[in-house]
Amino acid sequence: VSGALRFDVAGADGAKRYFGALSKETIAHAYLFSGPPGVGKKTFARRLAQSLLCEKPSTELLGYDETCASCAMFAADGARHPDFVESEGSLYVGAADAARSFYDGEDLTSREIVRLFSMQSYVGGMRLLLLGDVEFASPAAANALLKFLEESPSGVVTILTTPLPGSLLPTLASRLIEVRFPPLSKSDSNDVLQRLGYGEAEARRGAALGGGSIARAVTALDVEDESLRATVAAWFLESAAGETSERAWATRETLDEGLETVKMLARDWIVGALTGAAVARLADDYAQALGRLPSLAPARAAELLAKLDDAERIARTNVPPATVAEFVRMALDAAGSAQSTKSA
Ligand SMILES: [Zn+2]
Repeated sequence: VSGALRFDVAGADGAKRYFGALSKETIAHAYLFSGPPGVGKKTFARRLAQSLLCEKPSTELLGYDETCASCAMFAADGARHPDFVESEGSLYVGAADAARSFYDGEDLTSREIVRLFSMQSYVGGMRLLLLGDVEFASPAAANALLKFLEESPSGVVTILTTPLPGSLLPTLASRLIEVRFPPLSKSDSNDVLQRLGYGEAEARRGAALGGGSIARAVTALDVEDESLRATVAAWFLESAAGETSERAWATRETLDEGLETVKMLARDWIVGALTGAAVARLADDYAQALGRLPSLAPARAAELLAKLDDAERIARTNVPPATVAEFVRMALDAAGSAQSTKSA
């Protein structure tokens, strides 16, 4: 009995079935993980490596105990198991005799790979090479790897990942067993995004926008955040300048985040007005625009901050988001125009 082993990878049912039916004796020595970016190809490869190097005896190929010395090396941030080499990006053929430390895997060359893997394994078990979305800098680099695959030392498993299997040299591709990774389901995307630290609503939105790719979901959420911030900032500047803004940004989903942006800009506006320009600003990119706003008397500043606190409280009730935004707009307008009224 192997006990409760984990194999913590979302989706990838086909790959799980395929490797689940293999053993350390029957696993092939070279694989190509293909599929769109951000669906978990490299994550699967890392967990497969951890499974193969886990010291807990098991009849299952996929799974690790998370407690042995080997697993500890996979868990530690920045640490690396000496029998697991991961490299991403361009692969050069490399100088024949360049010295390089074992751990410096950032820009491994084909020749270094050959040299690394011609040495004995650290603990006498299997060794794994993950070449993530690798691009060959030259045909020579690809040929050097091809030669390595043809004469792979026993116990070495090489995994290449790529979103474009068609871009590989046919001679190289023919050496690799292709395992396809389809887009993640919405619920798997949702789980992964939550584990990455996104809130429930954001993860749901990301899963809907990502089309099964975590990379795409994260980008879409970033862009959404950035455009919300830009919209709210433009609205803030217009409102504080006493102009009637045509922009409407407040919805149930955007209200909290929008109010955060408003507060950040308001603090910068206030600090800038009270102390002059040379202060650390929360929103550097709006420093100039905020500097052009009317300056605020301390009393007005305190009043504005109190109104923004009120707005946050109202936002937690059933009051429509647009009404909360209008309340904030009036507060900004009042703060900005108070000065000009006095000086008029
Ligand atoms: Zn283990």
